[in-house]
Amino acid sequence: MTDIYGLTYKKMRDALEEIGEKPSRADVIFPAIYRDGITDLSALGFKDETTEKLSGNFYSGELECVRVLSSDTADKYLLRLSDGNTIESVMMKHEFGYNVCISTQVGCNMGCKFCASGKLKKVRDLTAAEMSGQLIAIKRISGKKISGLSIMGIGEPLDNYDNVTDLISIAMYQKGLDIGAKHITLSTCGLVPKIYELADSENPVNLAISLHAPTDELRRTIMPSANRYSISEIIEAARYYSTRNNRRITFEYVMLSGINDSVQQAKQLAELLCGLNGYVNIIRYNSTGDQAFTCTPHEQIMAFYDILKKNGIGVTMRRSLGSSVSAACGQLRAETR
Ligand code: SF4
Repeated sequence: MTDIYGLTYKKMRDALEEIGEKPSRADVIFPAIYRDGITDLSALGFKDETTEKLSGNFYSGELECVRVLSSDTADKYLLRLSDGNTIESVMMKHEFGYNVCISTQVGCNMGCKFCASGKLKKVRDLTAAEMSGQLIAIKRISGKKISGLSIMGIGEPLDNYDNVTDLISIAMYQKGLDIGAKHITLSTCGLVPKIYELADSENPVNLAISLHAPTDELRRTIMPSANRYSISEIIEAARYYSTRNNRRITFEYVMLSGINDSVQQAKQLAELLCGLNGYVNIIRYNSTGDQAFTCTPHEQIMAFYDILKKNGIGVTMRRSLGSSVSAACGQLRAETR
């Protein structure tokens, strides 16, 4: 039995053909399950013989919602997978619509020191079905249309490449959720070979790179993945991605007091990104209960911001959505308490 939520449009056509059904049935099934929210495959209006074949070969693996925590700006969903593991997804409320941030793994092996999710070792990758299932569950429970997708919840998306690229294809398909590539952002801690692979793929979505330090030496102390790939390798990959796809790359930079927030570090960062089609997204550090880090004071964040600006680097400050429900960047961590 195959979970129908894990099939891209093309894979659904192939799967239908394999069971002796017309591939064009995918044109009915896709909108029914993604747009209309139909979960019962016998309610798709097909003749009995087709319905039997569908029900005998496919199922719709809905995720169980354990808990929703809501604030003015974000709702955090704790979802249970069929094997009992739990994951978190967040729906952020923007002026222009609703953006959902999904998890890609149970736990994460990258071990970024400032990230709550990184404290949980990776248990396993999520399937494409479990990722699109997060979108389906949130759409069903909230009743909202999802207009943007952030692939930056728990897990390193490029460490689960094939399933994540299938999920992107599912989310983008016009007869389904129809989320445009420009409204999808994938965030990576910098797995260089996979950045090149994504750059050359069918669906090169927006790319955000978690940089968080202007030197390899410092980066290695807060992001173990920096031992695998140097900043110069990451910048080269980002340059390739940007040129190949005419995309502006986001460099995420979380402000850690006394660690990566000095005037000199702002200048180093500006030098590093000079001439690249990208910008820095400054993120206020959200406490995860770890005493080792605190957020840089506001005035110092503004000074850091000004130095980047003066040196010709585009820079934005991310609105911290969802920190009151521990749904902000770096705070996601599945708990079933
Ligand atoms: S920041 Fe991302 S890559 Fe790093 S530990 Fe957290 S979830 Fe993993």
